[in-house]
Amino acid sequence: AKNRGGNTYQFFNESMNKNAVRRLQVENQLRQSLRNNYLQVHYQPKVSLRTNTFVGLEALVRLEIPGTGIVSPAEFIPLAEETGLIIDVGERVLRQTCRDMREWVAAGAVQGRVAVNLSAKQFLQPDLTKRIMAILNEEGLAAEHLELEITEGVVMDDPERAIEIMTELNNCGIHLALDDFGTGYSSLAYLKRFPIQTLKIDKAFIDDINGAERDRNMVASIVAMAHNLGLDVVAEGVVDHAQASTLSNLNCEFAQGFLFAEPLRREHFLAHIATTLAS
Ligand code: C2E
Ligand code: CA
Ligand code: CA
Ligand code: CA
Repeated sequence: AKNRGGNTYQFFNESMNKNAVRRLQVENQLRQSLRNNYLQVHYQPKVSLRTNTFVGLEALVRLEIPGTGIVSPAEFIPLAEETGLIIDVGERVLRQTCRDMREWVAAGAVQGRVAVNLSAKQFLQPDLTKRIMAILNEEGLAAEHLELEITEGVVMDDPERAIEIMTELNNCGIHLALDDFGTGYSSLAYLKRFPIQTLKIDKAFIDDINGAERDRNMVASIVAMAHNLGLDVVAEGVVDHAQASTLSNLNCEFAQGFLFAEPLRREHFLAHIATTLAS
């Protein structure tokens, strides 16, 4: 871009600048949020397409800065990862999630598992299992109620090490889901060796599942393969009934998406699942 004339160069420079400014802004907001406990965990229900009932949930973090509004994790998680702040963010999310889940399970309101997203740095930190078990213990939640979501990128970086870590977590009773499946590079040879229980099909494959035969065939293949490996399949980003019914016809049993519910604040979660989704 540099040798295409003054204007291009100027523009490139300015947009780089804007990016840098925005990054600094988000990093400051993140540090401030950690100091002041502005991190919030929202929860999105997971449903069974077969029974139309609520079967689990996923924890999704937000930054809620009073007077500023909500900053999405898509914006601050990558930055948290680069700066190492993700370790602190991740522990807080896990702790709050365990606390909320313990309360809901104890009240008999929620069964199944709550899924928490793990980024690369978190997954690779030494003592991961010990730290997670300590938090479960301190918050009084049984490991059978926890599932961790990791992406292909996280595990394919060093698959052999990843398998060791996953096995350790599994041995403690924690389930594992491979998130955003289909968007990253993952080798089928490894897929069969990963000690995971669930595949989550990325929203990108679901969006046009009724418009594009190719996408539909792709999802059909993923579902069949996952079932052959003994895995559950969750479709992400389901927004309408036609998608839900196609998925159901393709034998995909589980789904999440705005059709059922957006991620909800903890205060609204119970009321929502009680009124809209039987369990
Ligand atoms: P993800 O794990 O793939 O989460 C699914 C994202 O899709 C969430 O965005 C969710 O709100 C959104 N979503 C769910 N259903 C629909 C739908 O029907 N339509 C559309 N358009 N979107 C839908 P969110 O909450 O903004 O999170 C974005 C990403 O940030 C997550 O993608 C995950 O990679 C990361 N993230 C979120 N919370 C955490 C966390 O606590 N720790 C880590 N390490 N990463 C997190
Ligand atoms: Ca996820
Ligand atoms: Ca996902
Ligand atoms: Ca995603």
